[in-house]
Amino acid sequence: MIDNSVDAEATEIQIKATPDKKKLLISDNGTGMDQVAFNKMLSLGYCDKNDQKVGKYGNGFKSGSMRIGSDAVVFTKCKTSYSCGFLSQTFLLAIGATEVLVPMCTWDLEGNIVGDERQADKSLNIITTYSPFESEEDIVAEFEKIKQTGTNIYIYNLSTLHDENSELQFFKDDIKLRERRDDHSLSPSERDPPIKYSLKAYCAVLYLVPRTQIYIQEHKVHQKIITRTLYKTKTSAIKLAGCAECYVTYGFHTNPKMRNINYGVFMYHRNRLIEPLVKVGSMTAPNSVGVGVIGCCEVPYLVPTHNKQGFMQNNLYLRVKRNLAAAFNAYWRMCIPSGGIGAFWKTVRKGMIDDPFLQCHNCFKWRPVAKGPDGIINLKEASSMWCCKDNTIPGQDNCAAVEVGDLVHTDRKIQRRESKGRKRKKPEEPEISTDEEEGVRTEGGKELIGRKVKSFLSMNGNTLWVFAVISDIN
Ligand SMILES: [Zn+2]
Repeated sequence: MIDNSVDAEATEIQIKATPDKKKLLISDNGTGMDQVAFNKMLSLGYCDKNDQKVGKYGNGFKSGSMRIGSDAVVFTKCKTSYSCGFLSQTFLLAIGATEVLVPMCTWDLEGNIVGDERQADKSLNIITTYSPFESEEDIVAEFEKIKQTGTNIYIYNLSTLHDENSELQFFKDDIKLRERRDDHSLSPSERDPPIKYSLKAYCAVLYLVPRTQIYIQEHKVHQKIITRTLYKTKTSAIKLAGCAECYVTYGFHTNPKMRNINYGVFMYHRNRLIEPLVKVGSMTAPNSVGVGVIGCCEVPYLVPTHNKQGFMQNNLYLRVKRNLAAAFNAYWRMCIPSGGIGAFWKTVRKGMIDDPFLQCHNCFKWRPVAKGPDGIINLKEASSMWCCKDNTIPGQDNCAAVEVGDLVHTDRKIQRRESKGRKRKKPEEPEISTDEEEGVRTEGGKELIGRKVKSFLSMNGNTLWVFAVISDIN
């Protein structure tokens, strides 16, 4: 449902409980819908969304709202009209309906009913009889809440669990699914990651590069570009025959509390998160390998399932996962060469982020930001109303400035790879990553100073290291 708001070019989405906590309100300031678009949204089985948009399947609203509650009233206002519609299981049950009826009504800006007046009257009568909006005045009042254009969706008769209490729990700045294992007395392996039960945690990473501000219970969600919250990041290419090259970035997250719960690859599709915390390669083993590592990739050629909670498990998907596994295994060996994970964690401090980025509250652009003298930054504290003008990085300190090239991946390394014009590998060979740095190395008692080129090639679980000295001053 959030996707629908994003598709409608909303800059702000509000998700909150009504004061009686009996309804969930999802509102946005997007373009709203005209009568045709509104009919499509509320008609079951209709599927005609612009392919480029996130809410591709057009059923996000229907399946989404009916999952949360039995009844929904939708108010939408676009440049040319106002519409109200009612998708209600309670109503259908009450009248013993044999087919799905969705009462809808549209007015032009002067308040004249658009289309068949008798049909509209009938619809209005049903809405005022069966919904919480009991009169036309109530409906008009709802339209007045929409400032220019936008959509307000009320969902009520919220789903309950076996104890007949609501499945949703409302908190000061979050909405959670009850009956998830978030009990701190459980061991980390038994606990669900917050993304599974916390709307706030989910919205924070729902979009690869967030461009729409989301508020939950009137608190702004601190959304993030996940790779820009990590330590020791490294980007590798995913190359499959006949598919556009894409990238995965691995890094460690620096919050020790979440290390054991939150790790794995976040797989995005057209900017939208499809599968979080996918375990790949040696991460899948029941040991500490991979703990604390987050991967992030966007794979445009995979196909999400209907509800966008996963990808189609086809051959291409398995091949992508194999690539992700090879890149992860190589990354892990590079970071933890001798298996000394304990020693490694001792060097990591919370907030020790490679390339922290913040989003401007005014222009929504993402900016690299400077870390403190100790190399630490608390993005969360810095972020709520942060603006470009607060930035200390020259050239990135005003809303007019263009954003840096690659917001997601550590572009430095990608650019270098491309500029080197490395020969194209045959598809599906294990990925070779290279990393260059200035270095000193002792070999045969002789100190060699020069540029060292580390390469690692992962194959069958073995790592081959190449160490080349380009210049030798001795
Ligand atoms: Zn700005």
